[in-house]
Amino acid sequence: MPAGYTREIPQRYRLEAGKCKKCGAVHFPQRLACACGSKDTEPYVLPSTGKIATYSVVRVGPSDFMDLVPYVVAVVELDDGTKLTCQVADAAPEEVSVGTPVTLEFRKVNQVGGHGIIKYGYKAVLDRFVE
Ligand SMILES: [Zn+2]
Repeated sequence: MPAGYTREIPQRYRLEAGKCKKCGAVHFPQRLACACGSKDTEPYVLPSTGKIATYSVVRVGPSDFMDLVPYVVAVVELDDGTKLTCQVADAAPEEVSVGTPVTLEFRKVNQVGGHGIIKYGYKAVLDRFVE
């Protein structure tokens, strides 16, 4: 990862969720209205660490991801209980199990065709890879 990488990440890519002021539900990504009907939410930064709650192994992926298969998509339960779905980075399927601790990192997800368009997103990284 090149130096300065973190500073170049726009603020909108932080793990910023919304928290309902009425019922306390956390939404990621942020929503305009909560399931309880309230539109009164406040910014809430999610913890970046958690563990794998469930996962599945993808062996045939969408064309943009074909060079990555097999890969693991997991539901990660963050330390505050929030759950989100993301890809597990750099992990062989047999290295992943329920309860495996992970850290969310902002990574390049894929490069689309030859147009140089790069998508970014969160990936779960097994703790042994975290620097
Ligand atoms: Zn609510």
